[in-house]
Amino acid sequence: MIVKTPWPRKLISFIISITLLLFIILTLFTPLSMAEAPDHEDRIPALLNLSTGFEHEFYADLDGEWFFFEEKLLSPTDVYHYIIRDQTSTVHIPSSFKKQIGASDTFGTYATRVKIPEEYIGRTLAIHIPFQYSAYKLFADRVEIASNGTVGTNALEHRTEMSPMLGYFVPITEEILLTLQISSFNDLRGGLENSMYIGDAAVVGQNFYTNVIWMLFVIGCIVIMGIFTILFAWFRRQEREFLIFGLFCISYAVQAFFGDPFFYTLTLLRVSFEWGTRLEYLFAEASLLMLILLFSQWYPKFSKRVLTSVFAVTVLIMLLTIVTKPIMFQQLFQYVFYLSLFVAAYAIYIIRISFKDLEIHDSPNLIGLIVVALGLLNDYMMSLGWIHSIKLSLLAVGVYVVAQVFIMSKSYANKVQETEDLNNSLTLMNATLDEQVNVRTRELKLANEQLAHQATIDSLTGLYNRHRFNAFFRQAFQEALDQRTPLSVIVLDLDEFKKYNDYYGHLQGDKLIKEIVHITSQKLPPNSLYARFGGEEFVVVLPYTLQEEAVKIAECMRAAVEDAKLLHEGRQNERYATISLGVATLDHRAQFRFETELIDAADQQLYRAKREGRNRAYAVSYEMT
Ligand code: GH3
Ligand code: MG
Ligand code: MG
Repeated sequence: MIVKTPWPRKLISFIISITLLLFIILTLFTPLSMAEAPDHEDRIPALLNLSTGFEHEFYADLDGEWFFFEEKLLSPTDVYHYIIRDQTSTVHIPSSFKKQIGASDTFGTYATRVKIPEEYIGRTLAIHIPFQYSAYKLFADRVEIASNGTVGTNALEHRTEMSPMLGYFVPITEEILLTLQISSFNDLRGGLENSMYIGDAAVVGQNFYTNVIWMLFVIGCIVIMGIFTILFAWFRRQEREFLIFGLFCISYAVQAFFGDPFFYTLTLLRVSFEWGTRLEYLFAEASLLMLILLFSQWYPKFSKRVLTSVFAVTVLIMLLTIVTKPIMFQQLFQYVFYLSLFVAAYAIYIIRISFKDLEIHDSPNLIGLIVVALGLLNDYMMSLGWIHSIKLSLLAVGVYVVAQVFIMSKSYANKVQETEDLNNSLTLMNATLDEQVNVRTRELKLANEQLAHQATIDSLTGLYNRHRFNAFFRQAFQEALDQRTPLSVIVLDLDEFKKYNDYYGHLQGDKLIKEIVHITSQKLPPNSLYARFGGEEFVVVLPYTLQEEAVKIAECMRAAVEDAKLLHEGRQNERYATISLGVATLDHRAQFRFETELIDAADQQLYRAKREGRNRAYAVSYEMT
């Protein structure tokens, strides 16, 4: 049964709370536009005092006032001289070139003096520089401790690289001069946009790697889920939603691998910054497409025309992403983003009109989809510098995947249980069916046997009936003819039986018939066939039997009935029941062509016996002829 309606209210409250949460996150992280404007006139020497407040572990960001030398790539010594001569201006970092000087394509040198806790003199410190949309070189005092890409004064010399970096050094004084040469060309952004951190080498490393490990763990989970759902769809061949979800997982994971913090730069994979960024954008676009596709799968009302158009535009932009430079495809991505915003608005409209058709089990999927969409929105706005926030999409996708795993494992468990129950009941049904079939078969066999028996046996006497006699006699006659062996028949009739019936009644008459059959049958040889010919007339077939022998048998039968002295009070001259018999034999003396002729001959002898006073057995007398 499908439970409808209660979920939309839940969904609405969920969307509202997610939006609120996002809003809070966004407001907590101050938007860039509200950051303090750098005061170029302020000429106090930049000094970051980090000497106190780090009793347990030394770890701090390097945000604050830095000297900035625009369009100058200065060595630490040069910086020192400029500071001495007071030819400096300061800026507040992190900030972008665009904000400082109104352009992204430029270069310069940042410098600051950092005062570290005294006890860290002589101990290894580290500086963590997360990715910057720039190339840079970092010096601690006069020693270069980290560099990324190639710093240059123009687009040709410059080469951006975005890997996160760890630079190590051992301070020999309490105050260290940090000098950072930086350049940015052909990128939408540039400058020292992300906070750097300084601290105890162990702590900095730990913070950096913990983050990387967790993100890789989440990415790994997403990949596994993707592979599982794709394979599931492949083997089932009809689960399109699973396939799309799997493709989404994989493309999202690839995107995350090539995106911040640029895991690929930490591996042996030799991918240039340009291709790394390209792959990041390509797979981000692919993930967006998969999300839209997934949504359209759930909502049949989602217009196919809208879907095709979005697909066409995105695929076109993806193709352009492959062939253009980052500055171009990063701008192009904005169109995909605007398109997605339009699709999201359209999707909300579709959800509204599809409310009543939805089923309750759609809601976790839908909520997951919305969470992921919001996460992507957050990350995108963050990457454009519109908001200061933390990366949320990876987390959102991770949560969504866990929710999917939950839904899938539950439904899988239910399905397995259902199948098992079904199997059990089927097995049970099969067993009882087998039993029933066996019983029916036995009954049928019995009924068939009874039928076969009834078809050949006379029910009153238990002798063979006329039908069986005919078949047997025909065969015996033919054999006798073929083999030239004698064949005798005896025809037998109860004497004055009508009177017995009249006197004792029919039931009693039946009993007499049975009694006489019983008595006479004991006088027959084993190879004979005794059958009821009709009424109270019987016939005995005696294969391989000569007439003399047959007459003897007939005489025996007659005598047995006579000796039995079965009372027959209805008769006039007799008190007991008797029988008359006629014998005929097929042998060299009597050639019959048909079996009926042999029976007729026996019948004639029977009539003769009746005529001549009954209670006798007659055969053709050859001596007389
Ligand atoms: P006959 O000595 O000349 O044979 O005299 P009959 O009275 O026996 O004459 P017939 O053989 O013509 O008579 C047959 C009678 O047997 C007719 C019928 O009422 C009786 N009968 C035939 N079949 C059955 C039977 O199955 N049960 C009973 N009770 N009577 C039968
Ligand atoms: Mg009779
Ligand atoms: Mg008769």
